[in-house]
Amino acid sequence: MQIPIRVSDRTSHHPLIFGGGPVLTANPEPFADFFDLILLGDGELLLGEFIESYKAVRRADRSTQLRHLAQIPGIYVPSLYEITYDRPDGAIQSIQPLDAAIPAQVQKQTYRGNTLSASTVVTEKAAWENIYMVEVVRSCPEMCRFCLASYLTLPFRAASLEASLIPAIDRGLQVTHRLGLLGASVTQHPEFEALLDHLDRPQYDDVRLSLSSVRTNTVTEKLARVLVKHDSRSITIAVESGSDRLRRIINKKLSNEEITQAAINAKAGGLSALKLYGMAGVPGEEPEDLDLTVAMLRSLKKAAPGLRLTYGCSTFVPKAHTPFQWFGVSPDAEKRLKSLQKQLRSQGIDFRPESYNWSVIQALISRGDRRLAPLLELARHYGDTLGSFRRAFKELQGQLPELNYYVHANWSPEQVLPWSHIHSGLSQAMLINHLASATAEMKANIQPEIASEIASEIASEPVPVPQAIGQLPDSQKLLRTVVE
Ligand code: SF4
Repeated sequence: MQIPIRVSDRTSHHPLIFGGGPVLTANPEPFADFFDLILLGDGELLLGEFIESYKAVRRADRSTQLRHLAQIPGIYVPSLYEITYDRPDGAIQSIQPLDAAIPAQVQKQTYRGNTLSASTVVTEKAAWENIYMVEVVRSCPEMCRFCLASYLTLPFRAASLEASLIPAIDRGLQVTHRLGLLGASVTQHPEFEALLDHLDRPQYDDVRLSLSSVRTNTVTEKLARVLVKHDSRSITIAVESGSDRLRRIINKKLSNEEITQAAINAKAGGLSALKLYGMAGVPGEEPEDLDLTVAMLRSLKKAAPGLRLTYGCSTFVPKAHTPFQWFGVSPDAEKRLKSLQKQLRSQGIDFRPESYNWSVIQALISRGDRRLAPLLELARHYGDTLGSFRRAFKELQGQLPELNYYVHANWSPEQVLPWSHIHSGLSQAMLINHLASATAEMKANIQPEIASEIASEIASEPVPVPQAIGQLPDSQKLLRTVVE
């Protein structure tokens, strides 16, 4: 059966097309014209409700089915909402349900049980070949202000060790000897030590163990030793930056001393490599913050000689439902990635930047609205390359906002967001409070502090100190206006 790509072209002969997952839950709007319905939030709750509700209307016409399903908490039927705009290429004016029977806000669903997911199929054909994956924790309590993995999925939940994790692991290891522990920050599981002890028993000696990224200050020598025993050679930590000031802006509660200790522990436990993740173009970032990152990596080399260091660096991309959703992508980020590349490669640190241009496309989808549907269709038609996005934008000029509006512009907290009708569970006031705290950190005597940190860490000349607001970066000016 040929299923039309657009909802508006489907009839009662076609199946209902539905989707879910973090991308669609955060901001379903760029895909609104393609999905009959979208499940917002955790599948544990939604799938059962959806199937039971669908059974009640399976013989009804399509419109009755969709109207019925739209009443179920967490089920979003995009075609039942009307969006108006200031102008065809302007901001969103309003998002309204078509009539009073349709909920004005759709509430993301949050599962609160302590049994989390595990693989149901293990195969060499999977993206992660033959690995049995177990979800150890869901969400992250740290709330770094850019982080979708935290804000969109709060509260932090940990799988029960006895009732969920150990039985799942024992089941999975009957069919494979590769185990992946999943979660935004697996070592934050309150019983992670006990889990490590369980995996450290002789019957698991041949198990190859992989962890997703771990919180830096939880990298102990014991963790490194268990990983080495189970065939892992490296560990990944997300440090974001080497600048304490920048980490305060983003609410990453981490110091360079803790990063150094993690490297020392990794080496002492026998690991041969440490992968660090960071970002460029973070709101409030100054070029000097990047110098501090270089200095931090250089000092790590000294503190843990022989440990192979890789620095993966992405561009800051705003994500819906986070306090940084209003910030645009910094046009300086590309230049900054190049500057990091130059400085780090010359020091023998393996630098792996993510593509700036694809980060721009990521931001487009992250903050996009329904007007992107023809663009996505065209870009797909032209081959889904960067060039096809450029070509599609050119062709649709005047029919949708400029790329700059979606990607680079700082948005006002007053404006209607494409996802304003999706309720994540966190209040707008709470996100704005975080935004205000970030702005306060940006304002706190930035340059003198940076200058002295750099002076002591890399013995460079102090940088000039701008005194007037006019000399501050654009993001700071915008936020001064917004928050004061
Ligand atoms: S520690 Fe990592 S996963 Fe947790 S909020 Fe910060 S960036 Fe997100």
